[in-house]
Amino acid sequence: MSRVWNFSAGPAALPEEVLRQAQDEMLDWHGAGCSVMEMSHRGKEFTGIIEQAEADLRELMAIPAGYKVLFLQGGATQQFAQIPMNLLAGRSADYIVTGSWSQKAFTEALRIGTVRCAATTEGSAFTRLPIADQIKLDPFAAYLHLCTNETIHGVEISAERIADTGVPLVADMSSHILSRPVPVEKFGLIYAGAQKNIGPSGLTLVIIRQELLGMAPLTIPSVMDYAVMAENGSLLNTPPTYGIYIAGLVFKWLKRQGGLEGIAAVNAEKGRILYGCIDASGGFYTNPVDRDCRSLMNVPFTLADPRLDAAFLAESKAAGLVSLKGHKSVGGMRASVYNAVSLAGVQVLVDFMNDFAKRNG
Ligand SMILES: *Cc1c(COP(=O)(O)O)cnc(C)c1O
Repeated sequence: MSRVWNFSAGPAALPEEVLRQAQDEMLDWHGAGCSVMEMSHRGKEFTGIIEQAEADLRELMAIPAGYKVLFLQGGATQQFAQIPMNLLAGRSADYIVTGSWSQKAFTEALRIGTVRCAATTEGSAFTRLPIADQIKLDPFAAYLHLCTNETIHGVEISAERIADTGVPLVADMSSHILSRPVPVEKFGLIYAGAQKNIGPSGLTLVIIRQELLGMAPLTIPSVMDYAVMAENGSLLNTPPTYGIYIAGLVFKWLKRQGGLEGIAAVNAEKGRILYGCIDASGGFYTNPVDRDCRSLMNVPFTLADPRLDAAFLAESKAAGLVSLKGHKSVGGMRASVYNAVSLAGVQVLVDFMNDFAKRNG
């Protein structure tokens, strides 16, 4: 059996140790005589799994006591609707648009209620962050939404750069959650689909400040109501049990990597060598994003001569490096280097890129 170096944007690579543990426990989880997939979500075994997963996540992210952790379904895309359904309360909300995902969140929210685009960098092809005096905030907004890592455009907003605006901050962290420490207390709500940096698709994580619960109108469906989900410990109905179990294994794996500080150091080194390779290529490869907001998780790049794209993809694949094709909206290549993509994997990619440039430059 040989495993590839997987640079998929999502569903993405999982730590091999986690997959092996899941394999070992597949038929008989801890003597239960069945798989986690086959046990009641209300039994004591699964209760232990979900409680441990939450406790480990709280420890990893240092989530304050005043926040609820919800294990939901429907992906980040469902959150694009669920957030305004719960939090608008007849008011207006502000959106900062820095790429395709925040654009989608904004467009979806328009279906639900009144929302404003407070700033957009579309005019710069989503390659930079908005400048402070270009952001027109509504001081009475129900919340301010942003996407802290734009998976397609490779633009990352580090939490230190986000100023307190006096309204609750809502952040789509789907593609960089758990990649570095984050001051959770700065946010009213953090959400993430699991399939980038948490576990399998089908699970969506929501971390919400308790004061934001209970604002939804009475007509909201109960599965969409954060307050109802929180009251029921995410067990109003059957949750994505296997995804929660795998996420729990990933949390344990992260703790063994030295927690978020530990993995952040590895991610910084991965970014240093990958961007270093691109920037030192003499224009053979280009990443268009401003240096101060380049994503450490999603690295889009183009080849100076797009006629070489097909050869780059074919030869990298033959070398065991897969899913490097860029998103169709931006073209070129994209290497997604989430937590589960090791420094060794990025080194193999960089060696390939240097060799390819030498042979074709
Ligand atoms: C992948 C992604 C989404 C969409 O997630 P789904 O789970 O497919 O709905 C939304 N936002 C960001 C930042 C993403 O990376």
